Amino acid sequence: MTPYDPAALEEDIEVLADWLARAEVVAPFTGAGISTESGVPDFRSPGSPWLANQPIPFDVFVASPQARREAWRRKFVMDDLYAGAKPGRGHHFLAELVASGKAPAIITQNIDGLQQAAGVPADQVIELHGNGTYATCLDCGERHELAEIRPAFEATGEPPACKRCGGIVKAATISFGQAMPQQALQRAQALAEESDLFIAIGSSLLVHPAAGLPVTAKRHGARLVIVNREPTPLDGIADLVLNGEIGTICMQLAQLSGDEGRGID
Ligand SMILES: [Zn+2]
Repeated sequence: MTPYDPAALEEDIEVLADWLARAEVVAPFTGAGISTESGVPDFRSPGSPWLANQPIPFDVFVASPQARREAWRRKFVMDDLYAGAKPGRGHHFLAELVASGKAPAIITQNIDGLQQAAGVPADQVIELHGNGTYATCLDCGERHELAEIRPAFEATGEPPACKRCGGIVKAATISFGQAMPQQALQRAQALAEESDLFIAIGSSLLVHPAAGLPVTAKRHGARLVIVNREPTPLDGIADLVLNGEIGTICMQLAQLSGDEGRGID
């Protein structure tokens, strides 16, 4: 992590608070970094449990019951690692931004459901990589709850089948080789275009097509702010880059916007 003058960071946080106060449509875009203080591992960081296994590509999952069994086994091991995860300061800050009406929705690369757990209605969370807190049938789309799937899987060792159509049930996340959710992508794209302030928080901005959203926002006239622990490839086109602890920065932003709300203008 590059050393970053704390006084400069304070000033930058104030600038962002001012931009937030004046913005009409804010587009928050979040990545793994917003959830690390909640104990959800960033799957790209060294030592991450995600790196221990080769990912199971989507076509293999569909073709092989054995692969499905392995995928579900791993899924539940992983779930246990962050079973107690609670929303952090970043999630709460963004939840307030949505509640205030400034942010129509939150675009996220995360699958942890923590933004919903912080009180944001599910239809105001645009999930580009799906959601790991439930499962869906690949054939009919029926939603299945993990709390039902897990005991059956652990008792029989058999991967779950859809109780409605008998189809293949998969965690509602997007796997390697699986098509991106088109509706989510289109909504994210529209919000990026409509926004006058686009804030990327805790994303390394490396994964496409998601990483194209800040560029889209910028091209449509939005201010672009990047909040992350480490530099990103898009820092050069950003209007403001804040490198620091995401939870702390968000808490300070929340305090500043609270002060403003109580002040006279
Ligand atoms: Zn089904």
